[in-house]
Amino acid sequence: MDIDAEHRRLVSDREGQPRHVVVVGAGPAGLMAAEVAAAAVHRVTVVERMPSAGRKLLMAGRGGLNLTHSEDLEPFLGRYGTTRPVVETAVRAFPPSALIAWAEGLGQPTFIGSSGRVFPRAMKASPLLRAWLARLEHAGVTLLTRHRLVGIAPGRTLVLEGPDGARIELENDAIVLALGGGSWPRLGSDGRWTALLAALGTDIHPLQPSNGGVAIAWSPQTAERFAGAPLKRIAVSCRSVTQRGEAIVTRTGLEGGAIYALSPAIRDGLGRDAVAALLLDLRPDIETDALATRIAGARKGDSRSNMLRKAAQLSPAAIAVLRDATGNDLPADPTALAALIKAVPLRVTGLMDIEHAISSAGGIAGHEIDPHFMLRKLPGVFVAGEMIDWDAPTGGYLLQASLATGFAAGRGVAEYLGGGRGARLHAK
Ligand SMILES: Cc1cc2nc3c(=O)[nH]c(=O)nc-3n(C[C@H](O)[C@H](O)[C@H](O)COP(=O)(O)OP(=O)(O)OC[C@H]3O[C@@H](n4cnc5c(N)ncnc54)[C@H](O)[C@@H]3O)c2cc1C
Repeated sequence: MDIDAEHRRLVSDREGQPRHVVVVGAGPAGLMAAEVAAAAVHRVTVVERMPSAGRKLLMAGRGGLNLTHSEDLEPFLGRYGTTRPVVETAVRAFPPSALIAWAEGLGQPTFIGSSGRVFPRAMKASPLLRAWLARLEHAGVTLLTRHRLVGIAPGRTLVLEGPDGARIELENDAIVLALGGGSWPRLGSDGRWTALLAALGTDIHPLQPSNGGVAIAWSPQTAERFAGAPLKRIAVSCRSVTQRGEAIVTRTGLEGGAIYALSPAIRDGLGRDAVAALLLDLRPDIETDALATRIAGARKGDSRSNMLRKAAQLSPAAIAVLRDATGNDLPADPTALAALIKAVPLRVTGLMDIEHAISSAGGIAGHEIDPHFMLRKLPGVFVAGEMIDWDAPTGGYLLQASLATGFAAGRGVAEYLGGGRGARLHAK
């Protein structure tokens, strides 16, 4: 592509219609904002620092692409915890049913998995992304890859750095920033925008890992022998939040769905006391008394490990975790042992680094964003996706909020540029 010619074309007809919307970030949030703005007959350019669009979306596709969740909207919104107010109106305006219809409109029929999670039947992101990019191209959206946003100059001019290091300025009638969070930076979203927006006076909460593993000091034997082993059908509690599910033992701690869901509580605990206490129920489906009876009735000649395996039905990995947590000093009394199996105390000393977490918490503070997803201090600049400070567990809630806020920002831009109620509101 001839960048200079493209640049001239983009800024040449500022007097005429349609107006020029620049979306920065070609992830799900940015592409959705681009789709909505283009549908409102605006000329849309999507700027992306990577050589291609939607790299994190494609990575999410490796796990089957959990698009959203089928539970009722009320518990669904509850998954965003204390950050629910930031996303609620956007998710209500673009709820899971709308997301499913949108995916199906791109030729990707969906199904509900046994856990209630919604996936495309293809169980990957590439066909959806391909169809989406083709639709955007058909709508006249220009994709400018290998261009990094490095500044927003007075007058809202975007300063971009091209592949050769050259700077270009891109004028616009409105901007949508959808630069992502801070996890998996090699896929494009490196969180460097935080300094840029903070310098422009926007309140940014530090990006922190979410939906990532936790650090627990296993004994060398457990780390060596059981790294990668699942702890199935367990329940994990932290600060009065309990989550059932599965965890995986890693060399340095635990990861997996049950752990990810506790991210906010664990972060909170670490923030206060530098150590967060986890309680692991290795047998959540059986009461303590019944478990104690089984343990008491175990064959007398069995070794401790065999007894735990047969009578308590613990896996070798679960037994190792139990032994580690007690310094290998297991109680002889069946009731005390049963109680321990149902509440194994673990000390979490840290979170896995943000580079390896599935998502990040923190970002643009909710109070900086108006109901149309425009930054209150930067008129004409809208924001969407994971760069906003909301947090949710895995289960489809991340893509749902990214796409819904992208939809809201696209609508906000359309109203802002189209006059009417939205523009008057913003003009205040
Ligand atoms: C391994 C993995 C698996 C996941 N699986 C799921 C799942 O199954 N379900 C689910 O709901 N969620 C999942 N997620 C999370 C989900 O992918 C993200 O929440 C979502 O992609 C966020 O969308 P976004 O558009 O806000 O940001 P991103 O997808 O991160 O897109 C932001 C874009 O902005 C670009 N960018 C950043 N800075 C600049 C700049 N300065 N200039 C130009 N461009 C820039 C980046 O290159 C990137 O392309 C997963 C994440 C990971 C890492």
